[in-house]
Amino acid sequence: MTTKIALVGIGKIALDQHVPALAASPDWDLAATISRHGQVPGIPAFADFATFLADRPDIPVVSLCLPPVPRFDYADAALKAGRHVMLEKPPGATLAEVHTLEAMARERGLTLFATWHSRMAHAVAPAKAWLKDKTVRQAHITWREDVRKWHPGQDWVFQPGGMGVFDPGINALSILTEILPTPVHLTRAMLEFPANRQTPIAAQLTFSNNVSADFDWRQQGPQTWDIIVQTDRGQLALRMGGNVLEIDGQPTAGENTIMGEYPALYARMADLLRTGASDVDLAPMVHVADALTLGERITTDAFDF
Ligand code: NAP
Repeated sequence: MTTKIALVGIGKIALDQHVPALAASPDWDLAATISRHGQVPGIPAFADFATFLADRPDIPVVSLCLPPVPRFDYADAALKAGRHVMLEKPPGATLAEVHTLEAMARERGLTLFATWHSRMAHAVAPAKAWLKDKTVRQAHITWREDVRKWHPGQDWVFQPGGMGVFDPGINALSILTEILPTPVHLTRAMLEFPANRQTPIAAQLTFSNNVSADFDWRQQGPQTWDIIVQTDRGQLALRMGGNVLEIDGQPTAGENTIMGEYPALYARMADLLRTGASDVDLAPMVHVADALTLGERITTDAFDF
C-alpha cells in the first residue's frame, strides 16, 4: 500500500532526485506538488501552500525541497495542519528553528525527518561498522566541487542562511558524525568569503582528535568527495561522497553511484511513519554553526555565476 506525499519546491534537487526516487518507490504516491514556478508533468500542482493544505487533507506527508531559509515557514504550517514532514538538508537556517519544529512534531504526534542524504550513501554503513572497534589516529575530509555545476545561478547559496560551501560540506560532516566512533568538536576554522558575497566559498576546518576538513567550491574538472581515516589497524577511505569504501587501498564495499541515496531516504521515511517515530540529528549542523562562530574570515576574489 502506498502513502500519498506532496513535494514542495520543484527545483534542482526535487527534479534530479526526489521525483525519480518517489516514482520508483513501492511506499509512496506523489500526489501533488507545491511550487511557485515548477511542476511535475501529470501531477496536480499548487502554487500556494495554504491552498494545498486546505484543499488536500488526504495527503498526510510533505517533503520540503526548498532552500533552508524559506523552509521553516512551510514546515511550521505543515505541522500545524497535521502533516508529517521531511526536510532536505541542511534541516534549517538555524539550529533553534529545527529544535522548534522537533518540539512541534513531538507535541502533535507527527513524524519529522531531518534528512542527510549522504548518510544513505552505499558505503557509509560498512564504514561505520569497520571503524566501530578501531582507534582513530587521524582523519581528513577533502570536499571540493564546482558550485557552478551543482548550484547553477542559485544566488541563495551566497545569501545569509545559504551557508556557502557548507551546503555541500555539511554532507561530509553528516558522514563524519555518523561513522566516527568518538565525537569530535571544532577547534579552528579559516573561511574564505568572496568580496561580493555573504557566505564562504571555501573553508579549512580543524577538529579535536586530529580530524580536519578542506571544503572548496571552486574545483573544476574531476570533483573530490573523500574522507580518509587512519586507525590503529589500517586506513579507511570513503570516496564518491561515501559511496565507495576502500580499506588499505583495496575496494571493499559500496557502489560508484549517488543514485541510491534518495530511495533510501524515502524508505527510511516510510519506516518512521510506520513506527510513529521522528529522526532529527543536528550534529552536522552544530559543526557548521561552530565554524561560522569561531572561524577567521579571509576576503577572496569576487564570485559570479
Ligand atoms: P533550488 O533549485 O534553488 O530551489 C528549489 C525550489 O525552491 C526552487 O525551484 C523554488 O521553486 C523554491 N524556492 C526557492 N526559493 C524560495 C523562496 N524564497 N520561497 C519559496 N520557495 C522558494 O535549490 P536546490 O538545489 O533544489 O536545493 C534545495 C535544497 O536541496 C537545499 O537545501 C540544498 O542544500 C538541497 N540539496 C541540493 C542539491 C543539489 O545538487 N542542488 C543536492 C542535495 C541537496 P519555485 O520558485 O517554483 O517556488
